[in-house]
Amino acid sequence: LVARMRPFGTTIFAEMSALAVRTGAVNLGQGFPDSDGPPEMLAAAAEALRTGQNQYPPGPGIPALRRAIAEHQRRFHALAYDPDGEIVVTAGATEAIAASILALCEQGDEVVCFEPYYDSYAASIALAGAVRRPVTLRPGAAHADDRLVSRAGRDDGRYAFDPAELRAAFGPRTRLVLLNSPHNPTGKVFTPDELALIAELCREHDAYAVTDEVYEHLVFTDATSGHVPLATLPGMRERTLRISSAGKTFSCTGWKVGWVSGPAPLVSAVLRVKQFLTFVNAAPLQPAVAVALALPDSYFTGFRDDLQRRRDQLVAGLTDAGFDVLSPEGTYFVTADVSALGGRDGVDFCRSLPERCGVVAVPTQVFYDDPEAGRRLVRFAFCKRPEVLSEAVTRLRRLA
Ligand code: PMP
Ligand code: GLN
Repeated sequence: LVARMRPFGTTIFAEMSALAVRTGAVNLGQGFPDSDGPPEMLAAAAEALRTGQNQYPPGPGIPALRRAIAEHQRRFHALAYDPDGEIVVTAGATEAIAASILALCEQGDEVVCFEPYYDSYAASIALAGAVRRPVTLRPGAAHADDRLVSRAGRDDGRYAFDPAELRAAFGPRTRLVLLNSPHNPTGKVFTPDELALIAELCREHDAYAVTDEVYEHLVFTDATSGHVPLATLPGMRERTLRISSAGKTFSCTGWKVGWVSGPAPLVSAVLRVKQFLTFVNAAPLQPAVAVALALPDSYFTGFRDDLQRRRDQLVAGLTDAGFDVLSPEGTYFVTADVSALGGRDGVDFCRSLPERCGVVAVPTQVFYDDPEAGRRLVRFAFCKRPEVLSEAVTRLRRLA
């Protein structure tokens, strides 16, 4: 194995899902729903399989899907992208992230990202020979810039970063900032003020932005603000590659259909890389995702409301079981501090949890460069049926 990949072992998601299977535990680790997405989408995929849409589709994705992606961004974010040249379909957001970094970063270029970060970020940055410059998100972080302070401290469940730390992370080698909002694993939704500062620094340092917005439809109604794509801020559309995926919004994480949108020169650079990573992506799933993206607004709000109820159920259950819970504003995930239950280390806690009470969670410590920052935090997924969440809570109560 090449040196640059040696620091990366088996992903925590694979380890924890295998542990769940081996022990028969309730799996609130890896983030995947346990029920299917919209029936119209599933029917369209079956129809495409039956009607011979089974050979290589065009490299950037079928035109109908690219048009649907453009239309969806216009409808929800008033963002205009040309389906011919400004949008490329990828093998999930994962390929879009890797291809974007590989297309933009020279050896030694720096990538600013927020830790804890989604696990593929560090590996994609390493594969490109680039260097990550993490900025730490901390629960209720207190710092000098009053605009960005999470006022109620950690009790309000918000993670925040220190603006001085972000400023210091930018420098002459900064090539891009990799931003994930709504954020996995914290459930944080970056506020307009936070986004404005990130945009200001990108403009100041002439850096690109790669935005991972796979949870764009999962911002709950009581969040401080709605989802604001970084590309909508002044001067940002021309320097941003905006990434999303069908997996989360349409409960089909196993389909791996994602996409990247941006100005033509950047998207064509991504396509240059993408053609040698996967060439093209699963043909019969593309017309189906096009159907899903065109569903009425009520699908998207209904989906969000449903997940919000599940969040409320799990947050209440975890609190009841004695966890110190940081309630999320978006995504599939809630994080909790295990100190209140006597836990000293999230990794040890999660490895012993199936045996202690038959539940699997994910330690978020593994998503930090500085493990100390996330030492006692663990993540639970609530994208599960209410009866599954309720069973998990019953089991977790045994810990007290
Ligand atoms: N980014 C984030 C923040 C994620 O949580 C995930 C996992 N679903 C991905 C990217 C990968 O998405 P996909 O499965 O579409 O590759
Ligand atoms: N995005 C999901 C999570 O964070 C699954 C990721 C994966 O298995 N690679 O749990």
